[in-house]
Amino acid sequence: MWGAGYSRHLYPIREKGTAVTHPLLDLAPLSAARFAEIEDRVARLLDTGQDVVIMQGEALLPLEGAIRGTAGPGTTALNVITGPYGQTFGNWLRDCGATVIDLAVPFHTAVTAEQIAAAFAEHPSIDFVSLVHAEAATGNTNPVAEIGEVVRRHGALFYLDAVASVGAEPVLPDAWGVDLCVIGAQKAMGGPAGVSAVSVSERAWARMAANPAAPRRSYLSLLDWKDRWIDGGRKTLLHAPAQLEMLALEACVERIEADGLDAVMARHRAAAAATRAGARALGGGLEPYVHADREAAPVATTLRTPAGVLASELVSRSLASDPALPLAAGGGALASEMIRVNHYGVDATRDAVRASLAALGAALGEKGLPVDVAGALRAVEDAWR
Ligand SMILES: *Cc1c(COP(=O)(O)O)cnc(C)c1O
Repeated sequence: MWGAGYSRHLYPIREKGTAVTHPLLDLAPLSAARFAEIEDRVARLLDTGQDVVIMQGEALLPLEGAIRGTAGPGTTALNVITGPYGQTFGNWLRDCGATVIDLAVPFHTAVTAEQIAAAFAEHPSIDFVSLVHAEAATGNTNPVAEIGEVVRRHGALFYLDAVASVGAEPVLPDAWGVDLCVIGAQKAMGGPAGVSAVSVSERAWARMAANPAAPRRSYLSLLDWKDRWIDGGRKTLLHAPAQLEMLALEACVERIEADGLDAVMARHRAAAAATRAGARALGGGLEPYVHADREAAPVATTLRTPAGVLASELVSRSLASDPALPLAAGGGALASEMIRVNHYGVDATRDAVRASLAALGAALGEKGLPVDVAGALRAVEDAWR
C-alpha cells in the first residue's frame, strides 16, 4: 500500500525498517498463461480467429514489423495516404525495396473503394495494400469493409492500421479480409500506449516465411513470435514482458467488456456527431475539417479555423482556461488551420465535448468573431442522442 512516506519523499523504500510495497512495483512476474489470456481477450475484441501477437512496444513496433516482415524487392505496394501515418508506411515500404504506388487523398476526405479498384486496374501487379482505418491526426475514416472486398478480389495482402479506430468503430479483420491488423490501446480503448497487438492471417505468415528479408532474431520480428511462442503452444515468452503495460491492457479490455464494446463505440460516435453539430452551430468561422459526416472518424474530430485565425493560438487560449480539455492543434503545417478535438477514451463524453466547444467559442469571441455558444451547446445535446 502507499505508505505515508510517499508524500514526503520520492522513493521511500523502507519505512520503520519494513519494506513498503508500491502499487506499481513489487508485482509477481506475469506468467505465460496470463499473457496468452490477454492475447485471447484482444482476439475476442477483434472477433478474429487469426493469431494475435501482443508486441512489447508502442503500435509503431508491429506497424513497422509487419511491413518489414512481408514486403521486399518483389512487392508492389499500393500505399494509401489519408494522413501522416500513410507517409511513414510508404517510407518503410520503399526502404524494404518494394515498388510503391502512393494513392494520396486530401485530408478532408476519405479514400473510396472505387479509387482502390482503379489503382488495381492501372497496376495489376499490386500484391500489397497498406491503409490507415481512421486517422486521429486528420479526423477521417476509410470504408475498410468495401475496400477489403476489392483487395481480396485481387488477392493482395491487406495491411491495416486500426490504432485510432479500435474501440471507436467496428474493427473486424476476419470479416473484412485484413491480413495484418495493428491496434494500440491508447486511443479509444482508453488504455496504455506501451504495448500493442497485431492479428496475422495464415497468408501473412506464409508471406513472411517466404521473405528472406523478413526480420529474424530481432525486436521487429513477428516470425520470432510465431516460431518461439505460437508454434510452441504459447508456453514460454521470448523475454520478460512489459508487465505494467500488459496489466493495463488487460484492465482496459476488461473495462470495455464490462461497459460493452457497442456502448463504448456509441459514446465515440455520439461525441463526434455532437462535436461536428456543435461546431457548425457555434459559428465564428469554425467548421468540421472533414466535409462528409460518413467520412468523419468517431475517434476524434478535426475542425478548420477561419482564415486569419491560427489554430495553435486558439488551442493555447482554450487550454489556458482549462488545461484538461482534449484539444490539440494539428501536427506540422496543419497547426495553423486544424484543431483536433480528441474526444476518445475517458474524454468520449458529453461534458468533454461541451467544455471544448465552450472554450473554443470563448477564444473566438475574444478575437471579435461572432459566436453562439448557447446554440452550440444545444446542438451538442440534440446530436448526442
Ligand atoms: C495514434 C496513432 C498511432 C500511434 O501513434 P502515437 O502518436 O504514438 O499515439 C498509429 N496510427 C494511427 C492512425 C494513430 O492515430
